[in-house]
Amino acid sequence: MKVFGKCQNCKNEISVSVNYGTRLEIAMYEGETKSNYCKNCNKKNEFHINDLRAKESKFSLIISGLIFLIGTPLTIYLLFDYLIIPHNPYIALIIAGFIAVPMTIYGIIRKQDMIRVRAFNRAYK
Ligand SMILES: [Zn+2]
Repeated sequence: MKVFGKCQNCKNEISVSVNYGTRLEIAMYEGETKSNYCKNCNKKNEFHINDLRAKESKFSLIISGLIFLIGTPLTIYLLFDYLIIPHNPYIALIIAGFIAVPMTIYGIIRKQDMIRVRAFNRAYK
């Protein structure tokens, strides 16, 4: 995953790739320092892993947001479609239950990402 530090020269945000989810594991398997070049000023920055932070993933936010934004109206549309034609209350009830599905998926994806961020940011080496 990617973790972030600030350029010592221009304060631009620099991303560093790591293969483990906690600072302890990174220190153990990859070493306590990570370096990368600043895309803004080209200065090579060396970071101690305690100075790097995980952030919520934009990808996770976009995917879960799309599921929520598309899934919820789609389910409501299906619900109304089945409520009006063929007037079967059981089918309507089942579909009503499905409204919770996109919301639940959204919640699970967001929660997983927060757990990942917290696991990294909580413990220092
Ligand atoms: Zn810089």
